[in-house]
Amino acid sequence: MYCPKCHVEYVPSFTRCAECNVELVEVLPTAKPARRHSTDGLVTVFSTHDPGLAAVAESLLQSADVRFSVRGMLLPYPGAFPVDLQVLAGDADEARRILADLAAPESQP
Ligand SMILES: [Zn+2]
Repeated sequence: MYCPKCHVEYVPSFTRCAECNVELVEVLPTAKPARRHSTDGLVTVFSTHDPGLAAVAESLLQSADVRFSVRGMLLPYPGAFPVDLQVLAGDADEARRILADLAAPESQP
């Protein structure tokens, strides 16, 4: 048993840390990737060859106040390569939900 706060190991008969007065855990939580708001961890949530569609997706994200970055717009041949909209990993679920309607028609055969 371990104290999740001070990480001291206790024998199994203990259930609380005497120092911290918190419940002991069997396994110390490993460093889970918490919801981070840094520049790394960008996730591509939308990809299209259609610059117009990309613009619509951008405005949708903008109106939903989701921060995003665009990759591919500055390529010399617009439309030749997909435009990727990337958001922070923590915002990916929300962004995908916002863009779900937009992405659906293109995924249809
Ligand atoms: Zn403790």
